[in-house]
Amino acid sequence: MSGATRVLVLNSGSSSVKYQLVDMADGRRLAAGLVERIGEHSGRLVHTPVRGERRERNTAFPDHAAALKAVSEELAADGTGLDSRELAAVGHRVVHGGTRFTEPTLITDEVLDEVRALVPLAPLHNPANVTGIEVARTLRPDLPQVAVFDTAFHATLPEYAARYALERTTADRYAVRRYGFHGTSHQYVSRATAALLCRRPAEVNVIVLHLGNGASASAVAGGVCVETSMGLTPLEGLVMGTRTGDLDPAVILHLHRVGGLSVDEIDDLLNRRSGVLGLCGDNDMREVVRRRAGGDPDAVLAFEVYIHRLRKYLGAYCAVLGRVDAVAFTAGVGENSAAVRAAATTGLEGLGISVDAALNELPTSGPRLISPAYSRVAVAVVPTDEELEIARQTFALVRRSA
Ligand code: AMP
Repeated sequence: MSGATRVLVLNSGSSSVKYQLVDMADGRRLAAGLVERIGEHSGRLVHTPVRGERRERNTAFPDHAAALKAVSEELAADGTGLDSRELAAVGHRVVHGGTRFTEPTLITDEVLDEVRALVPLAPLHNPANVTGIEVARTLRPDLPQVAVFDTAFHATLPEYAARYALERTTADRYAVRRYGFHGTSHQYVSRATAALLCRRPAEVNVIVLHLGNGASASAVAGGVCVETSMGLTPLEGLVMGTRTGDLDPAVILHLHRVGGLSVDEIDDLLNRRSGVLGLCGDNDMREVVRRRAGGDPDAVLAFEVYIHRLRKYLGAYCAVLGRVDAVAFTAGVGENSAAVRAAATTGLEGLGISVDAALNELPTSGPRLISPAYSRVAVAVVPTDEELEIARQTFALVRRSA
C-alpha cells in the first residue's frame, strides 16, 4: 500500500454534496465544503480550507458529476484533488445498509448493486448515495471507495429490540424491522464519552442523545448498541425538527380514511411539516427557546412536547441498560442548548442523573462533563464528528485490505 493517508468523505444528498478532507496521519481536517442546489438553475459551492480563505462558487451544477468535478478542483487548488496520490480512499456515507451491511464495506460492482437493491427501504437517501459513489468511481476508478452505513452500528440490536410486534410473515416479506440511523454519530460519541471518563468503551454503559434537526437516542452497553429510537425509517422515536417521532400508527389510517389524505400527503405531513415546526411554526431550537422565554404559548408547548418525549426515552434507556455510567448530549441542539439539557435532566436524581447548572451554561466547546462530581451518572456534552468517524473506518478498512 502507498503511504497515502488522506481520506475524502462524501455525503451525497439528492441535490447536495457535503464533503471533508481528513488526514488520517493525525486525524486533522484539511478542508470541508458543501455543494447545494445541484440540478437547479443556480447552485452554490462553499469550500472552506483549514488554512486559507473560504471560497464560494455561484453557478449551475447540472448534475452530481459536475458538482464533484468542481469539488475536486477546489481541493486541488489546496493540493489534494481527487487525482492526488496523497488520497488513500474515498469514504461514502450510505444511509441504509439493511441487514446485509453491518460493517464498512469496500465498494465493488456487486456491493453497489446490493446498495441499489436497498432503495425501497430508503427511497429518499440511498439513490443519491449511489449516485455519489458512481460519480466518484468514474473520476478515480483506481482508488478504494468505502461505504459506511448509518444503520451499521445498530446491527447489534437484540432481536427483541429490532422486531416490531407485527405479524412475522408480513414483516419478513417486506423487511420491516427496526434498523436505526445516525449510527456513525452514536458510535463516535459513545466512544468519545468513554474516553472522556478515561475508560475503555467496553467498560461503560452510555445513553447517547443525538439531538439535531433529526434526533435519536441510543443505549450502548460496553460499546455495543442494544437499543435505539429510530426504526424502519428515521421517523420513529424522539420529536424532531420537522418529524413527529412516535405516533399511534392508527393516526395514519385515520388521516387517510377520515381526512382523505393520500399516502404521499401523509408522508410529507409526518416527515416535513410536523415535529417542533408543526407545533409552533419554527424548527430551529434557538428560535423556539427564544420565543418560549418571551412566554409564547405555542413555543412553550412545542418545547414541553419535545422535552417530555426525550425524558421518556432517557428513563426507558436507564431501564434497558440497568446500570448507566454516562448520558451524552450531542448534535446541534444537544451540543448548544443548555435549556434543552437542563429541562431533559431536571429532577432525575432518583436515576442518579444530576447536572451542575453553572457547568451546563458554560459556552465551551469540546467534550466536557456538566454533572457535579457526586453524580452517579456522568452527564456529558460530546460534539459529534460523523465525517471523522467515516474517515477513520474507511482508512482502517483500506489499511486492513492492503
Ligand atoms: P444538526 O442537525 O446537528 O446540524 O442540528 C441542527 C439544529 O441545531 C437546528 O435545529 C438548530 O436550531 C440547532 N441549534 C444550533 N445551535 C443551537 C443553539 N445554540 N441552541 C439551540 N439549538 C441550536
